[in-house]
Amino acid sequence: MTVDVEDWYTSSIDLFAEADGDHGRPPDRTVLRNTRRCLELFARNNSKATFFILTTVAEAYPELIREIEQEGHEIGVHGYQHRLVYRLTPPEFEQDLKKSLAILQGIGVRNIHGFRAPYWSITKKSLWALEILKRNGLKYDASIFPIYRQLYGIPDAPTRPYEIIPGLMEYPPATYRLCGLNLPIAGGGYLRMLPYAFLDPMIRSAGRQGGLVFYIHPYELDPADVQGVESPKCLKSRAYLLQQKLGRNSNPRKIEKLLAAHRFVSFAAAYAM
Ligand SMILES: [Zn+2]
Repeated sequence: MTVDVEDWYTSSIDLFAEADGDHGRPPDRTVLRNTRRCLELFARNNSKATFFILTTVAEAYPELIREIEQEGHEIGVHGYQHRLVYRLTPPEFEQDLKKSLAILQGIGVRNIHGFRAPYWSITKKSLWALEILKRNGLKYDASIFPIYRQLYGIPDAPTRPYEIIPGLMEYPPATYRLCGLNLPIAGGGYLRMLPYAFLDPMIRSAGRQGGLVFYIHPYELDPADVQGVESPKCLKSRAYLLQQKLGRNSNPRKIEKLLAAHRFVSFAAAYAM
């Protein structure tokens, strides 16, 4: 199980035309409340996770990162500014990564092994990022979604863990092969919008062939977090917000069901790092 620790607004900045230039804005306190809900949920269900931290969150609320570690979860990196990797130059990406690592190390986090790109944005356009991850000491990436989306994905990428460049593993999110296509079953918006009864048999079937990687966001346990967002003026942003609001109320129950039905671990535990 993985958790991308961020607030909803920050995680959407590159998709909101109006919010341009707002990168690096400190997240509000909803991220504290909702990440603590995640911790309670995992404790109740005897599961552990890798928490990929947007490091503006670590900068604003270092105590939260310590709480996550104290509960026995793994800490990974989700970048500082939540930018699409392929919109950055390699030096900009490396600067963002180094800053993130320094913030986490500065509050005492040791053994940082993994990276998850904002918006799954390691695609064929940004594979150069992998060498940068490796030379900054990371052991794995968990950013390549083996599906096609306008924003992200490499549809013909492997769907199971593999060594993507020498010395760096890739752990892709769970998919289910249906009619020659990889159907995403890994969490996030897919869990939110598809009925649980539809996903459940695919999760069980794909899970029989080996461990699956899931992901959630803290704000997905709190439907009010997105419902309160003001409607933007730009039509494209409005459509995005509308789509983001779909399935919010039922999503916490689905996440509870998923946790109750399966036992989850972090990458560090699963692969003995
Ligand atoms: Zn994110």
